[in-house]
Amino acid sequence: MSDFQVTQIRKDFPVLQQEVNGKPLVYFDNGATAQKPEVVIRCMDELYRTQYAPIHRSVNWLSDQMTTRYENARETVRKHLDAYSTNEIIFTNGTTSSINLLAASFGRVFIRPGDEIILSVMEHHSNIVPWQMVRDQYGAVLKIIPISDEGELDMEAYEGLLNEKTRIVAVSHVSNTLGTVNPVKEIVRLAHEADVPVLLDGAQAIPHQRADVTDLDCDFYAFSGHKVYGPTGIGVLYGKEKWLEKLPPWQGGGEMINRVTFEKTTFNELPFKFEAGTMPFTEAVGLATALDYVNGLGLNRIIAYEEELVDYGMRALSALEQVKIFGRATQKVPVFSFLVGDIHQYDTGMVLDKLGIAVRTGSHCTMPLMDRLGITGTVRASLSFYNTTDEIDVLVTGLKQVIQMFS
Ligand code: PMP
Repeated sequence: MSDFQVTQIRKDFPVLQQEVNGKPLVYFDNGATAQKPEVVIRCMDELYRTQYAPIHRSVNWLSDQMTTRYENARETVRKHLDAYSTNEIIFTNGTTSSINLLAASFGRVFIRPGDEIILSVMEHHSNIVPWQMVRDQYGAVLKIIPISDEGELDMEAYEGLLNEKTRIVAVSHVSNTLGTVNPVKEIVRLAHEADVPVLLDGAQAIPHQRADVTDLDCDFYAFSGHKVYGPTGIGVLYGKEKWLEKLPPWQGGGEMINRVTFEKTTFNELPFKFEAGTMPFTEAVGLATALDYVNGLGLNRIIAYEEELVDYGMRALSALEQVKIFGRATQKVPVFSFLVGDIHQYDTGMVLDKLGIAVRTGSHCTMPLMDRLGITGTVRASLSFYNTTDEIDVLVTGLKQVIQMFS
């Protein structure tokens, strides 16, 4: 057993201290959004009380303070990702806007009719639809990496898809539905052999895994603050400077410019060229505080503890004969997608909610994956380091009640 002090750590999260329907809340919807520790809540409160002022544009003291905090937050993100330079850290509103930014900007310069974009069948809609828009605008073709029944990418098929027409590979680091940790380092290595850049959708990896962009050597990495215990409305697009220099801005507006006349606009330098308008600057500081919190706990210790949750959860759910688990990859985070007999996922979710257990039901924004699995949706229990094996036992007891009720 790891030495992870989960009882103590749970006290950092006020929301976990309450009851739902007269039962202690079991929050298993972390894949959708994670709860916030006291330090992040206090940070946001303190910013609004004492430091709130527009960044970059004003000469006053307060603005200067806030600008420093915002730029320090960028440095915290850079360090967390082990990126080379803060020029490579672009703040966005979240993974969705990071991928839309990249797809729109990359498409304009690098995608021509007949070019190919490689995605995988397990992608979230956020990493499908923006590329479909690019495809439709420029006449490109999407190529899809298939998966095994265990929910692992077919790497041989992937290698076969890479060719001289491939312009970019965009895949998730971790699947939000299956929990699979994809072999992203190998994906990047193979793409680079074919001279193709890679975007990793890190939305589900960032709370569970190391996202070391230097080690992974990925060209782009996208994630959201709210899934890694930070505020909503803030996210990051990492891009290698050599790529970001070549990409045009996505949105136009204040701050991303150097000089504007009605005839012509010249753009600001990196990373500001991609940060149009008033940025979510308090949220950026909140995100940095969340990353500091996670690093304070220690990513290695989090990973070790979450591996225990994966083992325990897979064993506990597999012991229920009626439960069919989707996603049995060898490398996996504590995300359990399943169906109970032929009971509809919404019915299971509703009964669990009555027992104080918050799960997600539906397609989890991965409809093509649902088509591949031949189902319309699953129940998804997505855990965090503040969840416990006792809570998994509560889920199992709840599922036994579901089975009894519907039998
Ligand atoms: N990609 C993946 C893998 C996700 O799980 C999510 C969120 N469910 C997103 C992208 C989109 O993230 P956001 O809604 O924060 O933009």
